[in-house]
Amino acid sequence: MGERLGKKAAIVGMSVVDKFRDECAVVGVYGHPEAANMVYLGLYALQHRGQESSGIVSSDSGALISHRQMGLVADVFKEDIIKRLRGSSAIGHNRYSTAGQSHLKNAQPLVVEYAGGPIAVAHNGNLVNAQTLRGELEAYGSIFQSTSDTEVFIHLIATSKERTQMNRLVDALSRVSGAYSLVFLMLDRMIAVRDPMGFRPLVVGRFKTAADSDGYVVASETCALDLIEAEYIREVEPGEIITFGPQGMESLKPFPPVPHAKCIFEYIYFARPDSNLYGRNVYRIRKELGRQLARESPVEADLVTPVPDSGVPAAIGYAEESGFPLEFGLIRNHYVGRTFIEPAQSIRHFGVKIKLNAQREVLQGKRVVVVDDSIVRGTTSRKIIQMLRDAGAKEIHLRISSPPTMGPCFYGIDTPTRSELIASSHKVSEICEFIGADSLSYLSQEGMYVFLDGSRDGFCDACFSGNYPLHVDDEGKTKQLHLFEAMQQR
Ligand code: 5GP
Ligand code: SF4
Ligand code: MG
Repeated sequence: MGERLGKKAAIVGMSVVDKFRDECAVVGVYGHPEAANMVYLGLYALQHRGQESSGIVSSDSGALISHRQMGLVADVFKEDIIKRLRGSSAIGHNRYSTAGQSHLKNAQPLVVEYAGGPIAVAHNGNLVNAQTLRGELEAYGSIFQSTSDTEVFIHLIATSKERTQMNRLVDALSRVSGAYSLVFLMLDRMIAVRDPMGFRPLVVGRFKTAADSDGYVVASETCALDLIEAEYIREVEPGEIITFGPQGMESLKPFPPVPHAKCIFEYIYFARPDSNLYGRNVYRIRKELGRQLARESPVEADLVTPVPDSGVPAAIGYAEESGFPLEFGLIRNHYVGRTFIEPAQSIRHFGVKIKLNAQREVLQGKRVVVVDDSIVRGTTSRKIIQMLRDAGAKEIHLRISSPPTMGPCFYGIDTPTRSELIASSHKVSEICEFIGADSLSYLSQEGMYVFLDGSRDGFCDACFSGNYPLHVDDEGKTKQLHLFEAMQQR
């Protein structure tokens, strides 16, 4: 889908969806002769944060040019499309996939035209008062074309009584509550925003070479900066608005400081291990979590094996701490797409088997510690354990490098509803029985902060602890929260 927004265009490019979750990657480049190409590469490096759709909007000669499409970054953007996305600034977005929500109309960045001119926005996060705000806006005549949180930002900016664009933005942000890392693109500047609690990451970099040294980049993770050879400057701080314009980089912190709530799950699972997040290397943290897991839950074994890829760093840590050799008992096929044709005649555990294969050569007759980062529904873990048994493992001890996932996330990570989370309704011993392991241990909540010497300051761990740092306004979400609280008191 491509479109060019001139001065007189109406609101276009809004998405229409029933349920919108914004688990995503954002990238923005300002002041680079190949801005769209740089954004494309940044999105490429951040593919793990969203595989459903991808989009780029660039600013050129008084108009915003956009291209959004379903699919992976490499499939969405071809050379001719990148060439069409002219201009020295551009923003981009990868959207995460969840079943039943695969629609082109959900793709970002959103591009709209309002009295202040054309504006594009890419959002990673989730608002907790989007429904409430939407109701208010509609009561005053705003016409929504979607139920997306991201559209709320645009309407708030468009209907603000403030006069300057920056004041309108601050006014809009002061009314939203929740998780948002945002990149806006206007004709003459780019603006990066991180919510006051800092739920989702966002970093700033600068291009290194003389020819493009005035150029800046913002991205969800530092691995995007590495690929395009930009130098890491710092994080966008929680509550900070950074404008990139002809004057360079200008910072504004219009809101009173509040306690931070950086997502700990980014460290455990979501971010790429080669990224530096909240000032720390993700790979090192995951290894340390694995070491702590070995200290907390040792077991006699012949080898340690990861569930690839997400369990690999923690397994390395566990192996180092326990002294048992690390072996790859499970090998992953890295070329599995999102769909495959299953044979009519049933193959047991086909869905898992097509991705992972258990090696008899490694496992036969062995006592095995299997390390993974988390258990969500437990269904994959159960199949993996069965595969390991079928390949001859004598004992299987599953070790999880995070605490039990007990509650949903309202801040931008797409965890299933409470009832689907196996740990919300089952004890560890029951989960162990369900998945068929000889033993199962999770990391303790304190152990998750081993890298901070146990201090939990500044982090959100609500899906593990039930301590939701931000009240949830929206009706359906509040109901889920109450259920979780009731469950915790049992
Ligand atoms: P389960 O046994 O709960 O069915 O699956 C556990 C696996 O799901 C683990 O290997 C873990 O890495 C992975 N996982 C954890 N959280 C997420 C998530 O948010 N999205 C996806 N795609 N996988 C996840
Ligand atoms: Fe991250 Fe969990 Fe908090 Fe969501 S609830 S922001 S996944 S730690
Ligand atoms: Mg995994």
